[in-house]
Amino acid sequence: MSILIKNATVVTQNATREIIDNCDILITNNKIESIGKNLKTENGKPETIIDATGKIAMPGLINSHTHVAMTLLRGLGEDLPLQEWLEKKIWPAEAKLTGKDVYNGTMLGICEMLRSGVTCFNDMYLVGVDEIAKACIETGIRGSLSDAAIATIGHKLDRAIAFAKKWKGKNSLVTPHISCHSIYACPEDMLIKAKESADKEKLKFHMHISETRKEIFDCLEKTKKYPIDYLDNIGLLDENTILAHAGWVTKREIALAGKKKATIVNCPISNLKLATGGICQITEFDQQGANVCLGTDGAASNNSLNMFETMKMSSLLQKHHYWKADVLPTQRILDFATINGAKALGINAGSIEKGKLADIILLDGKAANMLPRNDLISNIVYAAGPQNVTDVIINGKIVMRERVIQTVDEEKIVDSFRQI
Ligand SMILES: [Zn+2]
Repeated sequence: MSILIKNATVVTQNATREIIDNCDILITNNKIESIGKNLKTENGKPETIIDATGKIAMPGLINSHTHVAMTLLRGLGEDLPLQEWLEKKIWPAEAKLTGKDVYNGTMLGICEMLRSGVTCFNDMYLVGVDEIAKACIETGIRGSLSDAAIATIGHKLDRAIAFAKKWKGKNSLVTPHISCHSIYACPEDMLIKAKESADKEKLKFHMHISETRKEIFDCLEKTKKYPIDYLDNIGLLDENTILAHAGWVTKREIALAGKKKATIVNCPISNLKLATGGICQITEFDQQGANVCLGTDGAASNNSLNMFETMKMSSLLQKHHYWKADVLPTQRILDFATINGAKALGINAGSIEKGKLADIILLDGKAANMLPRNDLISNIVYAAGPQNVTDVIINGKIVMRERVIQTVDEEKIVDSFRQI
């Protein structure tokens, strides 16, 4: 199977962050075979040609922290702070969810993500995770999935490990990992065993950290350490660890996360909406060597899965927080949403380069909100939105063409969702 994208403006995200006008991209099977001007077509090859004149081709966005099935709970428990929202609204509602509900919620969430240019997402959930994997395969999106261990509500680590073992190497779109909800929902022995299991299986380890000030106080009281110091102390901090939020951290913890090359996922909209107060200092995490990524978090605390919005908010919050307009280059924000996400999840994607996985999106570069082109990267980060995404290719397969999802019937998905 081969696809030729003709005549696009290609935002490569390669080492020199090259942008090439009037450029073709040849995809063979699931990889990018070549990039260049006027690539030849012969003997009916490639099978599919996409005329991308006036369009921007860029690597698909990577949503590095979400709970996709939480579309089911969108708008539930509004205007509550995190702990109350979680304990009084979300966990009781989730306890009633069936695998079928999770499947329908996930299918809806995936449609929303595809439309906003997301080609891969990193998920943590607690029920029906096999159904989430099934939904990824059916829709054609790439998923890094986990069945989270949450001791406080009886979700055992054994299940998390069993899920990871079951899906390891099974499907090219689904990569399992091991996750624990948080330090306040999982005891120390569970955290240690989870990380040891992830290391043994050569998988990523994923959890929430330092989301609220209460979490910091509780951790200090219990362990005499700040959360990231604590994680390091029990052997959880390294380049295979993915930490979501990190909104309340000391400068020492930032340096430590950088030294250990851990991944920090900034979820600014969820933090703002749950009024957690702390702003993840991605500028300093990045400067110190941590792998900074961006995530929407679930649709119950965001309330969308829109990565364009997340890119913009991530940038604006840093400017506002440091009172410094040039604190973080816009290019870096796009890096966080593409190459850094791929690095965090251990997938060979995130840039348009020969040999990389063909996870590519096309944007309408002629739309009113994308003109003029004084700075294309700033147009993508600050002005673009899901309405600009026309085509999505994942793993060398056309998943969305001219705004129509090809792999599944979106109307039926919406109908089924509304029924449940
Ligand atoms: Zn989360």
